[in-house]
Amino acid sequence: MQIFDGHNDMLTQLYRSKDVSGFATGLSGHIDKPKLRDGGMVGGFFAIWVPSKGDLAALTAEMRKDAYDLPLPPPIALEEAQEVALEQAGYLIDLHATGDLSICTSTDQIRSCADAGTPAAILHLEGAEPIDPDFAMLDRLYDLGLRSLGPVWSRPTDFGAGVPFRYPSSPDTGAGLTPLGVQLIERCNAKGIVIDLSHITEAGFWDVAKVSQAPLIATHSNAHALCPHSRNLTDEQLRAIGETGGVAGLNFATAMLRADGKMLPEVGLDVMLAHLDHMMAQAGVDSVALGSDFDGAVVPAGIGDASGLPHLVAAMERHGYSSDMIEKICVENWMRVLDATWH
Ligand code: ZN
Repeated sequence: MQIFDGHNDMLTQLYRSKDVSGFATGLSGHIDKPKLRDGGMVGGFFAIWVPSKGDLAALTAEMRKDAYDLPLPPPIALEEAQEVALEQAGYLIDLHATGDLSICTSTDQIRSCADAGTPAAILHLEGAEPIDPDFAMLDRLYDLGLRSLGPVWSRPTDFGAGVPFRYPSSPDTGAGLTPLGVQLIERCNAKGIVIDLSHITEAGFWDVAKVSQAPLIATHSNAHALCPHSRNLTDEQLRAIGETGGVAGLNFATAMLRADGKMLPEVGLDVMLAHLDHMMAQAGVDSVALGSDFDGAVVPAGIGDASGLPHLVAAMERHGYSSDMIEKICVENWMRVLDATWH
């Protein structure tokens, strides 16, 4: 089974290690070319993300407590954000140049990459900090291949507000889109760029629903009804995604899967299936896909890394999903919504 995935943070890992050529031979994280091949993962959204200062290990430790409420990191300055974003985009461009993967801007390209065995990469920006108020950088990144963007990560930007990593918590944690955020949505609609609603506040989600002409997409978020984390989607949000022909991608981050919200690797595949069941019950079978968060989170021990994806597919089969449903979840729903959004 081929798998196309809604979110990974490999570029953040490369930003730390600078080991870009390691992609072809093997990296220590969840994603590299051999692991993609072994897992049947034909491609996905590769996120540019500007790190906040601070100790990530300490944050993960905090997310293992019974309840937590991590403070929102301070905003990132435009110049710093642009420098980091261009460096991370550069890694993907370098890998495209060496033929180790291919930056894709159409589903035809993605499908021919899948046939040829070349990983297909969508260039995604997680948090619009690098975008200036005149949108010159949006145009520049678009020319480099950017076709997907989240207005916010879990951090305030000029465009809106993200949810803090908080458990238990509703996603209704703060303000919606700013006037500049509304302009960003309109620009993305005009250019056919995916607008990713993972990380945005509930108010921001409904603001985008009001403004955007495109299907609503949350690349890596789960069912709030099963795990009441600020990052997960309420039933009402899931239904809105379904009604617009959008997609929600199942996030493998264990803090957003486990009912107790803890970022611990002990999560049965049955829990992932329960989220898929619930998300499909609300949004419909055409509106649920995968959004692993590989290289950005602790994932279930039963998957481990991208090479373990066949275990999830086998669990879907055992759970009684038809091959048609599995194809939709694993590839086709992403292809459909990208065709509906890109132009
Ligand atoms: Zn994320």
